[in-house]
Amino acid sequence: MVRPFASSADVAEKAEALEVLADGVYALTAKGDPNVGAIEGQDFVVAFEARATPVMARRWLDKLRAYTDKPVKYLVLSHYHAVRVLGASAFGAEVIVAHEQTRRLIAERGKEDWASEQGRMPRLFEGAASIPGLTWPDVTFSDRLVIDLGGDRGELVLQYCGRGHTAGDIVAWLPRQRVLFAGDLVEAQAALYTGDAFHFDWPAGTLDRVAAFGAHALVGGRGAVVRDRAAVDAAIGQTRDFLLVMRDRVGAVHARGGTVKEAFEAAHEALAPAYGSWPIFEHCLPFNVQRLWDELDGVDWPRIWTAERDREVWEALQG
Ligand SMILES: [Zn+2]
Repeated sequence: MVRPFASSADVAEKAEALEVLADGVYALTAKGDPNVGAIEGQDFVVAFEARATPVMARRWLDKLRAYTDKPVKYLVLSHYHAVRVLGASAFGAEVIVAHEQTRRLIAERGKEDWASEQGRMPRLFEGAASIPGLTWPDVTFSDRLVIDLGGDRGELVLQYCGRGHTAGDIVAWLPRQRVLFAGDLVEAQAALYTGDAFHFDWPAGTLDRVAAFGAHALVGGRGAVVRDRAAVDAAIGQTRDFLLVMRDRVGAVHARGGTVKEAFEAAHEALAPAYGSWPIFEHCLPFNVQRLWDELDGVDWPRIWTAERDREVWEALQG
Protein backbone atom coordinates (compact mmCIF):
# COMPACT_ATOMS: atom_id res chain seq x y z
CA MET A 1 0.00 0.00 0.00
CA VAL A 2 1.29 3.46 -0.89
CA ARG A 3 0.53 5.89 1.88
CA PRO A 4 -0.08 9.56 1.06
CA PHE A 5 2.81 11.71 2.34
CA ALA A 6 2.52 12.60 6.06
CA SER A 7 -0.89 14.27 6.69
CA SER A 8 -1.22 15.64 3.15
CA ALA A 9 -4.38 13.62 2.49
CA ASP A 10 -6.00 14.63 5.80
CA VAL A 11 -8.24 17.42 4.57
CA ALA A 12 -11.47 16.91 6.54
CA GLU A 13 -12.04 19.72 9.00
CA LYS A 14 -12.04 18.69 12.68
CA ALA A 15 -14.72 19.73 15.15
CA GLU A 16 -13.38 22.21 17.68
CA ALA A 17 -14.51 22.46 21.29
CA LEU A 18 -13.81 25.29 23.72
CA GLU A 19 -13.77 23.98 27.27
CA VAL A 20 -13.75 25.95 30.51
CA LEU A 21 -11.41 24.06 32.86
CA ALA A 22 -11.74 26.42 35.82
CA ASP A 23 -12.85 30.01 36.31
CA GLY A 24 -11.02 31.94 33.57
CA VAL A 25 -9.09 28.93 32.26
CA TYR A 26 -9.84 27.80 28.71
CA ALA A 27 -8.73 25.18 26.23
CA LEU A 28 -9.65 24.65 22.61
CA THR A 29 -9.29 21.06 21.48
CA ALA A 30 -9.92 19.72 18.00
CA LYS A 31 -10.02 15.92 17.76
CA GLY A 32 -6.28 15.44 17.57
CA ASP A 33 -5.32 18.73 15.90
CA PRO A 34 -3.00 20.97 17.96
CA ASN A 35 -4.61 22.33 21.13
CA VAL A 36 -4.45 25.91 22.39
CA GLY A 37 -5.32 27.54 25.69
CA ALA A 38 -5.92 30.81 27.50
CA ILE A 39 -5.74 32.00 31.11
CA GLU A 40 -7.51 35.12 32.32
CA GLY A 41 -5.68 37.50 34.58
CA GLN A 42 -7.30 40.40 36.41
CA ASP A 43 -6.84 42.80 33.49
CA PHE A 44 -5.41 40.69 30.69
CA VAL A 45 -5.30 37.30 29.03
CA VAL A 46 -2.34 34.92 28.69
CA ALA A 47 -2.63 32.88 25.50
CA PHE A 48 -0.89 29.51 25.29
CA GLU A 49 0.15 28.52 21.74
CA ALA A 50 -0.62 30.45 18.58
CA ARG A 51 -1.72 27.93 15.89
CA ALA A 52 -0.21 27.78 12.40
CA THR A 53 -1.61 30.94 10.81
CA PRO A 54 -3.18 34.25 11.90
CA VAL A 55 -6.40 33.15 10.18
CA MET A 56 -6.56 29.99 12.32
CA ALA A 57 -5.58 31.96 15.43
CA ARG A 58 -8.33 34.51 14.84
CA ARG A 59 -10.87 31.70 14.69
CA TRP A 60 -9.80 30.63 18.18
CA LEU A 61 -9.79 34.20 19.48
CA ASP A 62 -13.34 34.75 18.15
CA LYS A 63 -14.49 31.79 20.26
CA LEU A 64 -12.58 33.04 23.29
CA ARG A 65 -14.20 36.48 22.94
CA ALA A 66 -17.54 34.96 23.93
CA TYR A 67 -16.00 34.58 27.42
CA THR A 68 -13.63 37.52 27.87
CA ASP A 69 -12.76 40.72 26.04
CA LYS A 70 -9.56 41.40 28.01
CA PRO A 71 -6.53 42.08 25.81
CA VAL A 72 -3.89 39.41 25.25
CA LYS A 73 -0.86 40.67 27.16
CA TYR A 74 1.27 37.53 27.00
CA LEU A 75 1.49 34.88 24.31
CA VAL A 76 3.35 31.81 25.59
CA LEU A 77 4.87 29.46 23.03
CA SER A 78 5.50 25.96 24.38
CA HIS A 79 8.11 25.24 21.67
CA TYR A 80 9.26 26.32 18.24
CA HIS A 81 7.15 24.16 15.87
CA ALA A 82 5.45 26.10 13.09
CA VAL A 83 1.93 24.88 13.83
CA ARG A 84 2.33 26.32 17.35
CA VAL A 85 3.84 29.70 16.59
CA LEU A 86 3.20 31.18 13.13
CA GLY A 87 -0.28 32.52 13.98
CA ALA A 88 1.20 34.78 16.67
CA SER A 89 0.51 38.12 14.97
CA ALA A 90 -3.26 37.66 15.39
CA PHE A 91 -3.01 37.97 19.19
CA GLY A 92 -1.58 41.49 19.28
CA ALA A 93 0.29 40.38 22.41
CA GLU A 94 2.54 42.83 24.26
CA VAL A 95 5.01 40.09 25.10
CA ILE A 96 5.75 36.76 23.41
CA VAL A 97 7.42 34.35 25.82
CA ALA A 98 9.38 31.17 25.06
CA HIS A 99 12.34 29.13 26.24
CA GLU A 100 15.81 30.33 25.24
CA GLN A 101 16.36 27.13 23.23
CA THR A 102 13.17 27.89 21.31
CA ARG A 103 14.65 31.18 20.17
CA ARG A 104 17.83 29.33 19.14
CA LEU A 105 15.80 26.77 17.14
CA ILE A 106 13.75 29.46 15.39
CA ALA A 107 16.95 31.23 14.36
CA GLU A 108 18.63 28.03 13.28
CA ARG A 109 15.79 26.24 11.46
CA GLY A 110 12.56 28.25 11.66
CA LYS A 111 12.31 28.73 7.90
CA GLU A 112 13.01 25.08 7.10
CA ASP A 113 10.56 23.91 9.76
CA TRP A 114 7.84 26.16 8.35
CA ALA A 115 8.22 24.61 4.88
CA SER A 116 8.41 21.13 6.35
CA GLU A 117 5.30 21.44 8.50
CA GLN A 118 3.25 23.16 5.83
CA GLY A 119 4.09 20.31 3.45
CA ARG A 120 3.26 17.66 6.02
CA MET A 121 0.04 19.23 7.39
CA PRO A 122 -1.43 21.58 4.77
CA ARG A 123 -4.89 21.62 6.35
CA LEU A 124 -3.55 23.30 9.50
CA PHE A 125 -2.13 26.14 7.39
CA GLU A 126 -5.42 27.61 6.22
CA GLY A 127 -4.81 31.25 5.30
CA ALA A 128 -1.05 30.70 5.04
CA ALA A 129 -0.72 33.99 3.15
CA SER A 130 -1.64 35.78 6.41
CA ILE A 131 1.63 34.65 8.07
CA PRO A 132 3.86 37.76 8.20
CA GLY A 133 7.10 35.81 8.76
CA LEU A 134 8.79 33.88 11.53
CA THR A 135 7.61 34.45 15.10
CA TRP A 136 10.27 35.79 17.49
CA PRO A 137 9.92 35.70 21.27
CA ASP A 138 10.38 39.02 23.11
CA VAL A 139 11.28 37.35 26.39
CA THR A 140 13.08 34.05 26.89
CA PHE A 141 14.15 32.20 30.03
CA SER A 142 16.10 29.07 30.91
CA ASP A 143 14.35 27.52 33.91
CA ARG A 144 11.25 29.24 35.27
CA LEU A 145 9.23 32.40 34.74
CA VAL A 146 6.24 33.40 36.87
CA ILE A 147 3.45 35.66 35.62
CA ASP A 148 1.41 37.38 38.33
CA LEU A 149 -2.16 37.25 37.07
CA GLY A 150 -3.21 40.22 39.21
CA GLY A 151 -5.99 40.73 41.76
CA ASP A 152 -6.78 37.42 43.43
CA ARG A 153 -6.17 35.44 40.24
CA GLY A 154 -2.96 33.84 41.53
CA GLU A 155 0.01 33.13 39.33
CA LEU A 156 0.94 31.24 36.19
CA VAL A 157 4.23 29.33 36.35
CA LEU A 158 6.12 28.70 33.11
CA GLN A 159 8.56 25.86 33.70
CA TYR A 160 11.24 24.11 31.69
CA CYS A 161 11.25 20.41 32.59
CA GLY A 162 14.24 19.23 30.55
CA ARG A 163 14.79 18.17 26.96
CA GLY A 164 11.85 16.29 25.49
CA HIS A 165 9.73 16.82 22.39
CA THR A 166 12.29 19.50 21.45
CA ALA A 167 15.26 21.07 23.20
CA GLY A 168 13.12 23.90 24.53
CA ASP A 169 9.65 22.79 25.64
CA ILE A 170 7.97 24.64 28.48
CA VAL A 171 4.76 23.91 30.36
CA ALA A 172 2.31 26.37 31.93
CA TRP A 173 1.11 25.51 35.44
CA LEU A 174 -1.69 27.04 37.47
CA PRO A 175 -0.91 25.97 41.05
CA ARG A 176 -4.20 27.18 42.49
CA GLN A 177 -6.43 25.48 39.89
CA ARG A 178 -3.98 22.58 39.47
CA VAL A 179 -4.27 22.82 35.69
CA LEU A 180 -1.24 22.03 33.49
CA PHE A 181 -0.80 23.03 29.85
CA ALA A 182 1.83 20.49 28.81
CA GLY A 183 2.39 21.35 25.15
CA ASP A 184 3.68 18.43 23.10
CA LEU A 185 5.47 16.87 26.10
CA VAL A 186 2.28 14.91 26.75
CA GLU A 187 -0.28 13.70 24.23
CA ALA A 188 -3.67 12.37 25.23
CA GLN A 189 -4.58 9.56 22.87
CA ALA A 190 -2.73 11.14 19.98
CA ALA A 191 0.52 9.83 18.56
CA LEU A 192 3.79 11.46 19.58
CA TYR A 193 5.91 13.39 17.13
CA THR A 194 9.55 12.85 18.08
CA GLY A 195 11.40 14.03 14.99
CA ASP A 196 13.19 16.75 16.98
CA ALA A 197 13.11 14.92 20.29
CA PHE A 198 15.55 13.67 22.88
CA HIS A 199 14.40 10.08 23.39
CA PHE A 200 16.72 9.44 26.33
CA ASP A 201 15.77 12.52 28.38
CA TRP A 202 12.05 12.77 27.66
CA PRO A 203 10.69 9.51 29.18
CA ALA A 204 12.96 9.79 32.21
CA GLY A 205 13.65 13.04 34.07
CA THR A 206 11.52 15.30 31.88
CA LEU A 207 8.26 13.37 32.24
CA ASP A 208 9.03 12.78 35.93
CA ARG A 209 9.10 16.56 36.37
CA VAL A 210 5.85 16.93 34.42
CA ALA A 211 4.20 14.26 36.59
CA ALA A 212 5.48 15.90 39.79
CA PHE A 213 3.13 18.86 39.36
CA GLY A 214 0.30 16.55 40.41
CA ALA A 215 -2.12 18.18 37.97
CA HIS A 216 -5.84 17.57 38.32
CA ALA A 217 -6.42 18.57 34.70
CA LEU A 218 -3.99 18.49 31.80
CA VAL A 219 -4.13 19.93 28.31
CA GLY A 220 -1.72 18.02 26.09
CA GLY A 221 -0.45 19.06 22.70
CA ARG A 222 -3.12 17.10 20.92
CA GLY A 223 -6.14 15.12 22.07
CA ALA A 224 -8.90 15.69 24.59
CA VAL A 225 -8.52 17.57 27.86
CA VAL A 226 -7.56 15.10 30.58
CA ARG A 227 -9.49 15.53 33.80
CA ASP A 228 -8.70 13.98 37.21
CA ARG A 229 -5.47 12.71 38.68
CA ALA A 230 -5.71 9.12 37.45
CA ALA A 231 -6.38 10.21 33.87
CA VAL A 232 -3.48 12.68 34.00
CA ASP A 233 -1.14 9.94 35.19
CA ALA A 234 -2.47 7.64 32.45
CA ALA A 235 -1.78 10.22 29.73
CA ILE A 236 1.75 10.75 31.01
CA GLY A 237 2.16 6.97 31.23
CA GLN A 238 1.00 6.47 27.64
CA THR A 239 3.44 9.11 26.45
CA ARG A 240 6.28 7.42 28.33
CA ASP A 241 5.29 3.97 27.09
CA PHE A 242 5.24 5.11 23.46
CA LEU A 243 8.79 6.43 23.83
CA LEU A 244 10.11 3.37 25.67
CA VAL A 245 8.63 0.91 23.17
CA MET A 246 10.20 2.87 20.31
CA ARG A 247 13.52 2.98 22.12
CA ASP A 248 13.42 -0.72 22.85
CA ARG A 249 12.57 -1.83 19.30
CA VAL A 250 14.67 0.64 17.37
CA GLY A 251 17.55 0.16 19.82
CA ALA A 252 17.52 -3.60 19.31
CA VAL A 253 17.72 -3.30 15.51
CA HIS A 254 20.46 -0.69 15.78
CA ALA A 255 22.45 -2.85 18.20
CA ARG A 256 22.43 -5.84 15.89
CA GLY A 257 23.57 -3.76 12.93
CA GLY A 258 20.23 -3.73 11.12
CA THR A 259 18.80 -1.00 8.90
CA VAL A 260 16.64 1.98 9.74
CA LYS A 261 13.89 0.43 7.58
CA GLU A 262 13.97 -2.69 9.75
CA ALA A 263 13.85 -0.49 12.82
CA PHE A 264 10.83 1.33 11.43
CA GLU A 265 9.04 -1.96 10.78
CA ALA A 266 9.85 -3.28 14.26
CA ALA A 267 8.63 -0.09 15.93
CA HIS A 268 5.50 -0.05 13.78
CA GLU A 269 4.67 -3.64 14.65
CA ALA A 270 5.14 -3.01 18.38
CA LEU A 271 3.25 0.29 18.56
CA ALA A 272 0.40 -0.22 16.10
CA PRO A 273 -1.82 -2.45 18.29
CA ALA A 274 -2.08 0.18 21.04
CA TYR A 275 -1.46 3.42 19.13
CA GLY A 276 -2.04 2.76 15.42
CA SER A 277 -5.52 4.29 15.36
CA TRP A 278 -4.47 7.51 17.08
CA PRO A 279 -4.21 10.76 15.10
CA ILE A 280 -0.99 11.27 13.10
CA PHE A 281 0.49 7.86 14.01
CA GLU A 282 1.40 6.90 10.42
CA HIS A 283 2.44 10.46 9.64
CA CYS A 284 4.89 10.72 12.55
CA LEU A 285 6.48 7.31 12.85
CA PRO A 286 9.03 7.49 9.99
CA PHE A 287 10.35 10.84 11.24
CA ASN A 288 10.37 9.56 14.82
CA VAL A 289 12.36 6.44 14.00
CA GLN A 290 14.84 8.40 11.86
CA ARG A 291 15.53 10.85 14.71
CA LEU A 292 15.93 8.05 17.27
CA TRP A 293 18.25 6.25 14.86
CA ASP A 294 20.36 9.41 14.58
CA GLU A 295 20.57 9.60 18.37
CA LEU A 296 21.71 5.99 18.53
CA ASP A 297 24.36 6.96 15.97
CA GLY A 298 25.54 9.65 18.41
CA VAL A 299 23.83 12.69 16.83
CA ASP A 300 22.80 14.73 19.87
CA TRP A 301 21.43 17.89 18.25
CA PRO A 302 18.56 17.05 15.87
CA ARG A 303 19.24 17.35 12.16
CA ILE A 304 17.12 19.94 10.38
CA TRP A 305 13.99 18.70 8.62
CA THR A 306 13.59 20.23 5.20
CA ALA A 307 10.75 19.61 2.77
CA GLU A 308 13.22 17.59 0.70
CA ARG A 309 14.54 15.47 3.57
CA ASP A 310 10.95 14.83 4.69
CA ARG A 311 10.18 13.25 1.33
CA GLU A 312 13.36 11.18 1.31
CA VAL A 313 12.75 9.69 4.74
CA TRP A 314 9.08 9.13 3.96
CA GLU A 315 9.95 7.35 0.72
CA ALA A 316 12.58 5.19 2.41
CA LEU A 317 10.45 4.10 5.37
CA GLN A 318 6.77 4.57 4.61
CA GLY A 319 6.88 4.48 0.79
ZN1 LIG B 1 5.60 20.07 18.35
